[in-house]
Amino acid sequence: MIACNCAVCLSDNSKDKRYRSSLLVQSDTTSLVVDTTPDFRSQMLQHQVKKLDAVLFTHPHKDHVAGLDDIKAYNYFHQQPMKVYANMLTQSALKREFSYIFDENKYPGVPDVELIEIPEASFLVGDIPVTPIWVWHLKMPVLGFRFGHFTYITDANRIEPEQQRKILGSKVLVLNALRKEKHLSHFTLDEAVELAKQCQVPDVYFTHISHQMGFHQAINRELPSSMQLAYDGLSISLD
Ligand SMILES: [Zn+2]
Ligand SMILES: [Zn+2]
Ligand SMILES: [Zn+2]
Repeated sequence: MIACNCAVCLSDNSKDKRYRSSLLVQSDTTSLVVDTTPDFRSQMLQHQVKKLDAVLFTHPHKDHVAGLDDIKAYNYFHQQPMKVYANMLTQSALKREFSYIFDENKYPGVPDVELIEIPEASFLVGDIPVTPIWVWHLKMPVLGFRFGHFTYITDANRIEPEQQRKILGSKVLVLNALRKEKHLSHFTLDEAVELAKQCQVPDVYFTHISHQMGFHQAINRELPSSMQLAYDGLSISLD
């Protein structure tokens, strides 16, 4: 955290340095990101992501949308609009907060975006199957996504039973866990561990971690063997 002098922020362990949370999903033919964080540009440069077919948004909070402007590099190299999947809540926030992108008379070189509403049912992005999972972030509906056997849920503090059932059978679950202390709109570590146990997923990673959580290594030692903290650059392969 900017200007913080706590032991985690001063740690030498790279796994204690946390960019804002997002996800890159790649198949043989298709690449998509979930959210464009304020760190999007650095993340794409660092991981040398040369091709991006789509962006899926979870919700309109700034730490998940602020990097949208930087998709213009992909417009330039791919010579096509970026497919941006979002619910109506997020779409109206994007139109307000990035009004120049959606102007009638656009300034040359601004991002070229094709907005697509996320349906209730499963859909395909290229050859990647996507199942939306609706979760609650205090009073805001947020989208989690299941891609085959991989489920990603960020910024939630409650999941209704019929949505939670969509997680069952996943091989990997990434779930938000902000810190140990109670929070209004995010799962705590204990709440996330409990939910992960209920879902019986064999491989669980926690993300959207605050510096208040503590050190990566110390927290991992406290967790059940099937669960661990995610970290920047973590890469997972699925068949
Ligand atoms: Zn700190
Ligand atoms: Zn949020
Ligand atoms: Zn967030």
